[in-house]
Amino acid sequence: MIKNNAQFDVIILGGGVAGLWLLNRLRQQHYQAIILDTHHLGAGQSCAAQGIVHGGLKYSLQGNLSTSAQAIADMPQRWKDCLQGQGEIDLSQVQQLSEKQYLFSTQQLSSKLLTFFAGKTLKARIQIVERNAYPKALDNKAFQGNVYQLPEPVLNMQSLLRHLSQPQKPFIYQVDEYNIEQGNSQQIVITQKDKCYTLTAKKIILCAGKNNQTLLQQFIATKKQYMQLRPLQMPMLWSKDLPVFYAHCLGKGINPRMTITSHYREDAIVWYLGGEIAEQGVNIPKNQQIEKAQQALQAIFPWRDFSSMQWRTLFVERAEEKQLLHTRPSTASLLVIEHLYLAWPTKMAMAPLLADRIIEQLQKDDINPGNKVQPLVLDSVSVASLPWE
Ligand SMILES: Cc1cc2nc3c(=O)[nH]c(=O)nc-3n(C[C@H](O)[C@H](O)[C@H](O)COP(=O)(O)OP(=O)(O)OC[C@H]3O[C@@H](n4cnc5c(N)ncnc54)[C@H](O)[C@@H]3O)c2cc1C
Repeated sequence: MIKNNAQFDVIILGGGVAGLWLLNRLRQQHYQAIILDTHHLGAGQSCAAQGIVHGGLKYSLQGNLSTSAQAIADMPQRWKDCLQGQGEIDLSQVQQLSEKQYLFSTQQLSSKLLTFFAGKTLKARIQIVERNAYPKALDNKAFQGNVYQLPEPVLNMQSLLRHLSQPQKPFIYQVDEYNIEQGNSQQIVITQKDKCYTLTAKKIILCAGKNNQTLLQQFIATKKQYMQLRPLQMPMLWSKDLPVFYAHCLGKGINPRMTITSHYREDAIVWYLGGEIAEQGVNIPKNQQIEKAQQALQAIFPWRDFSSMQWRTLFVERAEEKQLLHTRPSTASLLVIEHLYLAWPTKMAMAPLLADRIIEQLQKDDINPGNKVQPLVLDSVSVASLPWE
């Protein structure tokens, strides 16, 4: 057995959007940082995401544009800079599925909501769309609602993960498993074929999504729950006849009842359905969820027939920092637990914010870039597949 030791500044466990964004930022700042991933990059949430770079509209609609939600409002511009090759990470090669998305209601909105949309908080971020400029999906006489446009981009998640990982390939490793000694939060041992690596780090950062809690308990003896899961059953349908469409459909209230994004599967267009429909359909079998989604779409687009299309659903869980009332955290979460950092972006859009917080915390903890470490000889990791592939 060949034994190797290596000392890093930071070891990140998990290469979803959170871990990959962080790795790019840390290496720019000359930190000796690596990612270890036990599956594929983005397996779990990132590859299942709808790819919307949210700007916190939901919080504004709820009249709750707090300081933290204001930080989310800044995210689309920060991502747009990167997508134009002028931001903190060069994402100019990432496939942008759309530069904007729509917000629409099936009936005329109440005058209260119309006044709110025209008000100061939202005016700069949301534009009314006139009937002659409706997207193809809504361009029908039977449609009698209101349509708005939001300047929030939608990304191909696989393309994003590829372009975040490509420049850092020598520092991202696939490991089937690793050994953690409870009580030692700065060391990981990897045994692969005839090699044994003992890796130490000034800081180990857990970015493993829903596996963060289990990982934490491997390092530290604790029964405390730091994480909550938000399960979803996402319906998806595909056909050559579906128009490309990115939109939130408002229900009676202010919460989007359905968020539709469009993706590509061979020569068909896939509609991937999130929002209330996915959240409320977690306890019913797949065929019932498909039926429910068909009815919901039929009510929104009565002029289309969805029953003959191909359907499927995906069960997936969002991982977030535990909240007292299981509400959704309004920003990215970083917890410092003994020697470890535990991180969830809450939304893909907030990965840049999470990286800022982690870098600030490293500086507070006096963890600075150290001497150069040679890349390890371990397998590289590929990006996970998309739900409709
Ligand atoms: C259906 C759905 C739709 C969404 N849509 C959007 C959206 O439109 N916009 C938005 O902003 N957000 C969206 N989100 C939220 C967003 O996807 C997540 O907040 C974000 O992807 C989380 O990234 P992550 O890197 O923390 O976790 P993940 O993407 O789950 O990545 C975890 C990584 O850790 C690895 N891993 C797992 N266990 C271990 C281990 N033991 N050791 C090492 N590595 C491990 C995995 O292989 C994976 O690479 C959506 C989420 C879901 C589920």
